[in-house]
Amino acid sequence: MALIVHKYGGTSMGSTERIRLVAKRVAKWARAGHQMVVVPSAMSGETNRLLGLAKELAPSKLTDAYQRELDMLASTGEQVSVALLAIALQGEGMESVSYAGWQVPILTNSAHTKARIESIDDQKVRVDLAAGKVVIVTGFQGVDEAGNITTLGRGGSDTSAVAVAAAMKASECLIYTDVDGIYTTDPRVVPEARRLQTVGFEEMLEMASMGSKVLQIRSVEFAGKYKVPLRVLSSFTPWDIDLEIEAKSGTLITFEEDENMEQAIVSGIAFNRDEAKVSVLGVPDTPGIAYQILGAVADANIEVDVIIQNVSKDGKTDFSFTVHRNDFAKTVDLLKEKVLPKLGATEIIGDAKICKVSIVGIGMRSHVGVACKMFRCLSEEGINIQMISTSEIKTSVVIDEKYMELAVRALHKAFELDQPAA
Ligand code: ADP
Ligand code: ASP
Ligand code: MG
Repeated sequence: MALIVHKYGGTSMGSTERIRLVAKRVAKWARAGHQMVVVPSAMSGETNRLLGLAKELAPSKLTDAYQRELDMLASTGEQVSVALLAIALQGEGMESVSYAGWQVPILTNSAHTKARIESIDDQKVRVDLAAGKVVIVTGFQGVDEAGNITTLGRGGSDTSAVAVAAAMKASECLIYTDVDGIYTTDPRVVPEARRLQTVGFEEMLEMASMGSKVLQIRSVEFAGKYKVPLRVLSSFTPWDIDLEIEAKSGTLITFEEDENMEQAIVSGIAFNRDEAKVSVLGVPDTPGIAYQILGAVADANIEVDVIIQNVSKDGKTDFSFTVHRNDFAKTVDLLKEKVLPKLGATEIIGDAKICKVSIVGIGMRSHVGVACKMFRCLSEEGINIQMISTSEIKTSVVIDEKYMELAVRALHKAFELDQPAA
């Protein structure tokens, strides 16, 4: 008998009919003798609907008090899901009980809308499991020390599930979604994308960081830190397929390189439409400039991604970086107010119509010319590269948003990702 955590995403929980199918699947696992903890997301579209309501009523200045209420609001989506799933399981003749994050409790810091999990008290859950119940815990949410409800950022139910699995030392965490595993790139953009049997943890982390929304980044970080066996698979297979077959389906995230792993140089392509570019023009090229610009941005709790500084001409230079699109207006205002007057820079310009496309692969460590092949492919498509950033196992470019799909398809083809690697 093993302790298993299942996570079901929004589409998998999208209607009462789908919730019934989830309940049947979970009941199958429980009847096979496993202790089951289930972490569902809100029903598809629900989090967007709730946040849309808040936007209609939002004050002109988005204060911390407003962010607190956003969490209060958005967390209700998952509360509906857990109760409905518990009821559906009871309908299947299973004993089940649901908990909101604060009831477990899942303790987080107080960074509303992007809180981090600090600890999980598993006592209550263990008592229920020992009594033979299926336990259902809300994804996406927790509670801070002061008792405020927090949420973990969009897609955060993945992180809840992996964190619960880590806290409870579960045998495996299965992430059920609307695709049957991790693909070489988003199969909705490139129909030729190929499912990977296994993907290395580092590659998965880089893919998630570069924008593959199939797993939230922090869920991969948690899996790595606590070595949680993690698998991504489909909730759209018939619920009654053989459990042994289901348990081996999808994509397994692996922590050690083994010889069965594919030896591709590039294993996947990720893209991200959520960023915006900010440029500070005509900054004096003197020590401390990067610190003055980015320090002010960091103090406002805004994360910066790709950064470039041009060579200087006549003692002046241009400095550009990307931030999340949600932080774009705030960043430009902040720089105009606080940094521009102090630096004597001439202008701040922004571009929200950009995207970032990244190639990711562990094999890039030992092969030269991979980035060059990427640049050639983009140039052949007539796509202008605005910014470049590299790490040991990825190369990212910032390009005009309108070329995103073209770039992803062309790169997928150029790196032959539709073919199995040797
Ligand atoms: P859930 O609601 O189950 O959490 P998400 O929408 O968050 O599901 O994530 C699943 C989606 O991720 C897929 O429908 C797919 O379009 C997208 N996706 C992006 N990149 C990949 C990839 N490399 N492999 C598989 N799916 C991907
Ligand atoms: N419901 C939340 C969202 O839509 C969390 C999740 O689905 O993982 O972002
Ligand atoms: Mg998701």
